[in-house]
Amino acid sequence: MRASVLYLVIPCYNEEAVLHETSRQLLHKLDVLISKNLIDQRSKIVFVNDGSRDTTWEIIKELHEKNPMILGIDLSRNRGHQNALLAGLMTVKEYADMVISLDADLQDDVDAIDEMVERYHEGFDIVYGVRSARKTDTFFKRFTAEGFYRVMKLLGADVVFNHADYRLMSKRTLDALEEFKEVNLFLRGIVPMIGFDSTNVYYERKERFAGESKYPLKKMLSFAFDGITSLSVKPIRMISILGILIFMISVIAFLYFLIGSIVGVTEPGWPSLITSIWALGGLQLLAIGVVGEYIGKIYLETKERPKYIVKEFLR
Ligand code: UDP
Ligand code: MG
Repeated sequence: MRASVLYLVIPCYNEEAVLHETSRQLLHKLDVLISKNLIDQRSKIVFVNDGSRDTTWEIIKELHEKNPMILGIDLSRNRGHQNALLAGLMTVKEYADMVISLDADLQDDVDAIDEMVERYHEGFDIVYGVRSARKTDTFFKRFTAEGFYRVMKLLGADVVFNHADYRLMSKRTLDALEEFKEVNLFLRGIVPMIGFDSTNVYYERKERFAGESKYPLKKMLSFAFDGITSLSVKPIRMISILGILIFMISVIAFLYFLIGSIVGVTEPGWPSLITSIWALGGLQLLAIGVVGEYIGKIYLETKERPKYIVKEFLR
């Protein structure tokens, strides 16, 4: 049996502080896997530079010159983690039998790679890296991140709990992924939609090796919001149900006030009026906002903009 070619795809945004150490550890990992005959010698490490403003691309070029196992892809500008990752996956898929995506900061335990490759050889097309513990995350990060997965599930998006973007995908999974043409890209929601046999590998998420997180709260919230609205239409349904409920309540309240004023026990007039104006006004605004969110998405999808543009591919 011919050994399978593994490509590691790593999106990098302002990661100059970690790149040397990351490439050192990953090169070592590939060497070990090659010597165990688990992967082919033509396996590679691919760094995708997502429009970094520091010396990230210079470092990648330098690493590539020193070691032919390291490749680099330079995007024309910063397009965000998900797009950078997709750029890497789609660029390398014709050369690889399997691809593992991971973060540049070594938070995803590189020792889980062995197990992922073993699962691949057992016949799995997708292997999800799942965090078994979040000891190193702050309480706030853990609370918001785990809440995020729960809310996603609740709102009808099929995501793997505590799985981010550390995963192995086979060549045919990537070919299938290419068929998903959406511009609002949320990989961890889309990959489960592809199907094929999948399994989980558990690992402990480490502390960021160096540098700081590129995901401040603001980005996290917009990521969660995008994830939900680009995967599911449940929010619209929930708004409609809320509308029906509030309407029914207002009918009951109207009857209550009507009877009250006939019997003469209430002061007829503005309390009921003001409440209903505010309740309905707020509800309408909310509904318009959610519908608008979807219309905005339709608008973007119809443009069919390219999700990324590769400036240079070092091979
Ligand atoms: N990243 C990227 N483009 C961006 C932001 C982040 O390619 O616009 C990369 C970053 O270099 C890292 C990965 O995405 O490899 C995850 O980012 P980070 O570690 O900052 O997120 P966190 O682990 O804090 O959620
Ligand atoms: Mg990180």
